[in-house]
Amino acid sequence: CGIVAYVGEREAAPVIIKGLKRLEYRGYDSAGIALAKNGELNVYKKQGKVADLENFAAGEDLGGNIGIGHTRWATHGEPNDVNAHPHTDSTSSLAMIHNGIIENYDSLKKDLLGKGHIFKSETDSEVFLHFIEDIRNREGCSLVEAVRLALSKVVGAYAIVLMDKDNPGQLIAARKGSPLVIGVGENEFFLASDATPIVEYTNEVVYLNDQEIAVINDGELNIRNIEDIPLTPYIQTLDMEL
Ligand code: GLU
Repeated sequence: CGIVAYVGEREAAPVIIKGLKRLEYRGYDSAGIALAKNGELNVYKKQGKVADLENFAAGEDLGGNIGIGHTRWATHGEPNDVNAHPHTDSTSSLAMIHNGIIENYDSLKKDLLGKGHIFKSETDSEVFLHFIEDIRNREGCSLVEAVRLALSKVVGAYAIVLMDKDNPGQLIAARKGSPLVIGVGENEFFLASDATPIVEYTNEVVYLNDQEIAVINDGELNIRNIEDIPLTPYIQTLDMEL
């Protein structure tokens, strides 16, 4: 339902938590956050309000300059802590948040189960992530390429953001049918379902279009489409009347 992600020089968690609260108006049943620091991935997920997530994670390690956060409106799998996003892959190196619905998740899941994948949640979103992981392992390709190949096979609507604890300067995002905005700051980037979590930090934004993949890597934003054709990001300056 709601997406917020950050990579840059700030602490990611406060930016993400505040952003998720700004997206509360969209409605949701659970919330979660994943952060990477010193080669570790820390994931906290909780049914209920963003405030419940904050209470749950209080006293835990919320450090890190990269993170992804989500408020979930359940479509596949009941609202509970485990089904909340972010989801992780088999090695718990990748974390992903997803808005929308993957319509062919059932056949993808059967296939992945046959290959030995173990699922923690009942969501279509976790299947989507394991599908990406499986392609990366099989093709021996980059994560971006695996995402691109996966997108050509999934049916449905999505806005996704992925991070890899072993590559803590990188966020990968894509969309089809669900909104995603990229905030471009100085040595920092924000991703969100709409501009409200972003405007207090920057008024330079890029609205990702359907079938586009955004890759933020070590302070640079690149966009390509699902056919792997590089595109020039169109940066818009928002008129901020706050
Ligand atoms: N289909 C996903 C789920 O049920 C994402 C729902 C959403 O957009 O929040 O977990």
